[in-house]
Amino acid sequence: MSRVAYVNGRFLPQGRAGVSIEDRGFQLADAIYEVWAVLDGKMADVEGHAERLERSLNELRIPMPMSRAALDQVLRETIRRNRVRNGIVYLQISRGAARRDHAFPKAGTLPTVVVTARSIDPAAEAAKAARGVGVITRPDIRWGRCDIKTVGLLPNVLAKQEAREEGSYEAWLVDAEGRVTEGASSNAWIVDAKGRLRTRDTRANILRGITRKTLIQLAAELQMQVLEEPFTVEEAKAASEAFITGAGAIVMPVVSIDGQPVGSGQPGPVATRLRALYLEHARSEAV
Ligand code: PMP
Repeated sequence: MSRVAYVNGRFLPQGRAGVSIEDRGFQLADAIYEVWAVLDGKMADVEGHAERLERSLNELRIPMPMSRAALDQVLRETIRRNRVRNGIVYLQISRGAARRDHAFPKAGTLPTVVVTARSIDPAAEAAKAARGVGVITRPDIRWGRCDIKTVGLLPNVLAKQEAREEGSYEAWLVDAEGRVTEGASSNAWIVDAKGRLRTRDTRANILRGITRKTLIQLAAELQMQVLEEPFTVEEAKAASEAFITGAGAIVMPVVSIDGQPVGSGQPGPVATRLRALYLEHARSEAV
């Protein structure tokens, strides 16, 4: 089935969909994006992602191009037209198309809105989670506003490519003090020797992952201890378990870091349980 994209008010076959070559997303990475997981045909963590989207736009002073209700309809219609039962829906909003100039274009320039959706095979994801994935570590060379979900992703792209070239799934980014910030496209977690969950605090220069946030709540409900604290690469390598979270990966066990096995070298019970828990929660909550 050919895919359908939404671009500025119209649904088009994806192969014929496009934006201006003067679009500021293309020219200057002057754009933000958001990604929702689709689970059993429904969007997961709808509100959390919508709130972060509005925050990203506010931080960059890009106007919200339509009401939240209208946007919600566009997202759902894109999911429907692409017949996505399980996968992701992707939204990008740029500051619009205007003659290239670093400074903002004149007031009234309409933001560009693009929405696409694609399927992800849940059985293949489950198999991947049962095997676990490897990560490599790389210096975090990104700008200082990683809390804004912009399409300016070159450091993430380069780190991810290096991971793939080494046969790994993800790259964990490491700050100047040797502490893990997050993954190239996910948040990073470990389970320490005392069974406590640890993930970087949001005062650090990281994206405030929505899956991360929901999982912290779910873990707390189970009386699991969650420390939002930095951990070093050495601590991660010595951890009993590690995993990543994100709208695409959901909760994915990490079984090796820089080629060294984590814990038993197999997906651990905590990560495996948290994955099941998140999926169950999202499927029951998803609307
Ligand atoms: N960090 C980065 C850099 C990401 O790109 C992502 C995924 N978009 C995440 C974390 C995870 O965020 P979320 O759970 O909201 O998908």
